[in-house]
Amino acid sequence: MISNNLKDLTEEDLTSLLQLEDEKKIESLYRQAYEKKVEQVGKKVYFRGIIEFSNHCQKNCLYCGIRRDNNELTRFEMDREEIIKSARWVHNSGYGSLVLQSGEIQGEEFTEYIEGIIRDIKEISKGELGITLSLGEQKKETYRRWFEAGAHRYLLRIETTNPDLYAELHPEDHQFQERLNCLKTLQDIGYQTGTGVMIGLPGQTPADLAADLKFFQRQKIDMIGMGPYVPHSSTPLASGTTGDKIPAKLKEKNLDLSLKMVSLLRILVPDVNIAATTALQALHPLGREKALQAGANILMPVVTPQKYREDYKLYENKPCIDEKAEDCRGCISNRVKSIGEEIAYDEWGDSRRYFRRLGNRSAELRGEIDAENAAG
Ligand code: SAH
Ligand code: SF4
Repeated sequence: MISNNLKDLTEEDLTSLLQLEDEKKIESLYRQAYEKKVEQVGKKVYFRGIIEFSNHCQKNCLYCGIRRDNNELTRFEMDREEIIKSARWVHNSGYGSLVLQSGEIQGEEFTEYIEGIIRDIKEISKGELGITLSLGEQKKETYRRWFEAGAHRYLLRIETTNPDLYAELHPEDHQFQERLNCLKTLQDIGYQTGTGVMIGLPGQTPADLAADLKFFQRQKIDMIGMGPYVPHSSTPLASGTTGDKIPAKLKEKNLDLSLKMVSLLRILVPDVNIAATTALQALHPLGREKALQAGANILMPVVTPQKYREDYKLYENKPCIDEKAEDCRGCISNRVKSIGEEIAYDEWGDSRRYFRRLGNRSAELRGEIDAENAAG
C-alpha cells in the first residue's frame, strides 16, 4: 500500500492516507508503523513523569481550559518543596526523566524560580534525572539560563502549522511567527526540541495535518507530542457545543486521526521520539496503548499531586484526576506490559534523531556544561 520510499511520501500521499476508511488498510498502516518502531527504537517505552506545577497562565488560547480568562477554576502554584518532593518520587520510581509543565508565565522571578528548581532536581538525583521543560514562549536568555542549569529537552507545540488556522485559535497578540522563532532558538541553544499539534481542531483539514507531518520532517524536530483536540466547555472554542460530555462522533474521529498521524509520522521520520499523549485516553480508555501499537514510544505518566489535578484540566474528561502518582505507576506499567512492550526504567531515552542530527556536538556541549556545574 505504501511505496518503498517512505520518507518521500508527499503531502498529497499523506492527505489521502489520513482519509483511509478501509479497516484492513488502516490496520496494515499501523502494522507497518509498529514494525518501523521496533526496528528503530525497539519494543521499549520510555517514561517522563509530568509535574503540572502551576495553572497560572498569561495567555488566552481559545481552546485551553486554563486560559487566563477562565475563572471557573482555582489557580494554584506548587512551591519548591512540593515540586522537589514529586521529582524525588519520579527518581525513586525509576522513571528516568521528568517534565515540568505549567501555563505560560514570563519574567525574572519565574525564570529564577525555575532555574533554582532545575539545579535542585539535578542535585537530588545526582544528575540522573533527565529534565524536559514545557513552559511556553520565553526570551532567548531565559531558555539559555534554564539549559545551563541542566534542562536538556523542551516541548513547545506549534499547535497547527497553518498560520490562518493558528490565528483563528488564538487572540491577536499570540503570534505564529513568534512560536516558530522560539522553536528555532531552542534548537540553536542545543535543546532536544519537541513540538506537536492538536488533531481534529475545528476548521482543520487532512491537508493541514499532512502539512504538519512534513513540517516535523523538514524542521528536524527530535520529539513529537501531538494529541487529539478535546473540547473544554469553559472555552470560547467549545462554548455551547459540548457541555461536559464529548460527542461520540468527535471522540471517534479525533482518535482515528490521531492514531493515523502517529503511524504516518513513524513511517516518515523513523528515529523520532513520539509520545502517546494523555489526551488520547480522554477519548478512549485504551487510547495510549493504541498509540504505542501504532508507533509511539514515550509515555508521560502524570505525577502531579492529586489535590491539584482537578484544576489542571486543559481539556474535558482528563483521565486519572482522582488517582495518586503511586496508583498511576502500577496502572501504567500494567498497560505497557499488556501489549508486550518493555519499560526502560532509569534511562533518559533521548531522541536518536537528535544525536544523528547534531552528531557529537551537542553531547560535547552537554558534557562541558555538566562538568562546569559539577565544578562549581
Ligand atoms: N503553557 C504551555 C504548556 C501547557 S499547555 C504551552 O502552551 O506550551 C500544553 C499543551 O496542551 C498545549 O500545547 C496544547 O496543545 C494542549 N492543549 C491545550 N488545550 C487543549 C485541548 N482543549 N485539547 C487538547 N490539547 C490541548
Ligand atoms: Fe496557557 Fe498553554 Fe493553555 Fe495557551 S495552551 S492558555 S499558553 S496553558
